[in-house]
Amino acid sequence: QYSQVGFIGLGNMGSHMARNLLKNGHDVIVYDKNTEASKTLAKEGANMALSLSSLASGAEFIISMLPSNEHVLDTYSGPDGILNHCKEGTILIDSSTVDPQVPQTLAELATKKQNVMFLDAPVSGGTKAAQEATLTFMVGGDKEALEKTEPILKCMGKNVVHCGSNGNGQVAKLCNNMLLGVSMMGVAEALNLGMKLGMDAKLLSQVINNSSGRCWSSEVYNPVPGVLPNVPSSNDYYGGFKISLLAKDMKLAEKLSERASAHTDLAKLAITQYEHLIGKGFQDKDFSYIYEYLKTKA
Ligand code: NAD
Repeated sequence: QYSQVGFIGLGNMGSHMARNLLKNGHDVIVYDKNTEASKTLAKEGANMALSLSSLASGAEFIISMLPSNEHVLDTYSGPDGILNHCKEGTILIDSSTVDPQVPQTLAELATKKQNVMFLDAPVSGGTKAAQEATLTFMVGGDKEALEKTEPILKCMGKNVVHCGSNGNGQVAKLCNNMLLGVSMMGVAEALNLGMKLGMDAKLLSQVINNSSGRCWSSEVYNPVPGVLPNVPSSNDYYGGFKISLLAKDMKLAEKLSERASAHTDLAKLAITQYEHLIGKGFQDKDFSYIYEYLKTKA
């Protein structure tokens, strides 16, 4: 059964996700503040909305993939936002990575509308998984709304995990990304050390990937150029997960650790390194660029 799906935010992730909905035959209406991004999807069969209100009036499901808290709050609850324009029965799904308080606030506002439900459904997997429709969705919110949404999410990902009430999807995602920022830094340190001592990056990665140091950052998203094809490090560190976005997520996780009085000392150290790169103007590079930084660090 095909649905009318609105998609907001067609960047590194959202463009692939919207494309996969089209490939599965859904009627997709897109909106991005950058009209060039919408035009690209329109050429592939999407309808292009020129405003949030026109997108909202024609959709049964609305998915957003936006940079951060403010963009998401503004898109849903701003004066021209989705909550003021969506139809009765619409299910709203935010897949951006934001503070858990954002979906909690928006879900509360949604209950004031006729039969409108809000789910937080951040994703893990990166741009390659977005392209290949193998993302993992971590969902917070009403179980019944998720059951109705699952066939749509399955067009973009292979795993859909219900994490509990609104906000819990984001808690799961932020814990994951905090670990990702730390593990990428660890992989970069280990490979840099081995290479300085004369080892070949591919060979050392192969050893690690068959040993106990193996992780996603070493196996799927290796930070050394040329070790893997089709990853940002082999594309001048573009087309992946921007340092600015990872630092945003790690700082959100730090806020959560303060709220929960949990120690996250390694994460704090990693944040200073990624922020240093942002200070040097590398905010749009993929976060695996941390390897290049370590390599040249005095
Ligand atoms: P991106 O910067 O590549 O894309 C964001 C898109 O949103 C851009 O096209 C931008 O023009 C658009 N946009 C910004 N403000 C808007 C607004 N007010 N209205 C409409 N469109 C607007 O970011 P991305 O890498 O696609 O990441 C999006 C979200 O997904 C972030 O929250 C990020 O943390 C998360 N995420 C990213 C990855 C990844 O590997 N890139 C993986 C998982 C989760």
